[in-house]
Amino acid sequence: LGWQRILGHEARVEEFRRAIQRARLAHAYLFSGPRGVGKRTFAVELAKALLCEASPPGVLEPCDRCPACVQVEAGTHPDYSLAARPPEAQDFPIEQMREICQSFALKSARGRGRVVILDDADDLNEAAANCFLKTLEEPPPRSVLILIGSSPERQLSTIVSRCQVVGFAPLSAPLVDAVLAAQGIQDSNLRARLVRVSSGSPGKALDMADPAMWDFRRALLEGLAHNPRPSPDLGRTWMTFIEQAGKESTAQRRRARTTLVLLIDVIADALGALVGAPAHRTDEADSPHLQSLTARTSTDTMVSLLDRCLEADRQLERNVQIVLVLEALLDSLSQQLQT
Ligand SMILES: [Zn+2]
Repeated sequence: LGWQRILGHEARVEEFRRAIQRARLAHAYLFSGPRGVGKRTFAVELAKALLCEASPPGVLEPCDRCPACVQVEAGTHPDYSLAARPPEAQDFPIEQMREICQSFALKSARGRGRVVILDDADDLNEAAANCFLKTLEEPPPRSVLILIGSSPERQLSTIVSRCQVVGFAPLSAPLVDAVLAAQGIQDSNLRARLVRVSSGSPGKALDMADPAMWDFRRALLEGLAHNPRPSPDLGRTWMTFIEQAGKESTAQRRRARTTLVLLIDVIADALGALVGAPAHRTDEADSPHLQSLTARTSTDTMVSLLDRCLEADRQLERNVQIVLVLEALLDSLSQQLQT
């Protein structure tokens, strides 16, 4: 256990090991990389390693058994906290940020330092960022603050300049497969599909492990293949499926982006069929719909549909209203797929 549960980021573990050996640990880090590749898991493991009371000083190895390790794992260690933006909020509430900063400035209760993890750091607003920067002016000894975000570009430059940026890359397909297997997904066909749509992110793959996702993918394909133009019901089916993710807008937005990944996968299937790629990746039951779709379209159309999906994804990322993004996307799809 310990670091062994971290797959694909061995070089990052080594960097932290060396920093501890040379007593060169920074006070603030920005963990940056795509969602679902293990940044948060890594941060919790690092917190354990730093606060572990069984491992000798200068050795970054959580024992996973001492009270400190157990308490970090349970989220009850007095010198450890993990905060995230509340699901219903667009950005970090300043009150929450003040609390985090105050707790960071406290003296370590158990004498090993403090570790504060701040997830969703993409959503820090100006006020929250200022609070954070003030905290870093006089950091308590052995205190480490870890921000988790998607990329340095999403952060205010003042924050990036105060943090050591640690990049987390997507995982290789075999590693994503290994994570999925470890999470109990036994169906190897499902795992192969999930690896395909994961872009190297086990977190994204797990989001799509729900069979309802693949039923929806079928509905997408059928709707698009519908003759002579995409089914007019597709928009409603799509929006309903997104709303089923939950009342909160972040949950709906996340599912909306996941459905785009499925749509891109459908289009990739159609493109593959058009250029005569082997059909092994296609589900048997999809074939008739895929044929109906490819019979009245071209590779150029499919490539421009792919572009259009990526544009819709960028709009969702920028918080454009989901229903508007989908309506505009469906309009383009209908126009381009009309014969
Ligand atoms: Zn321990």
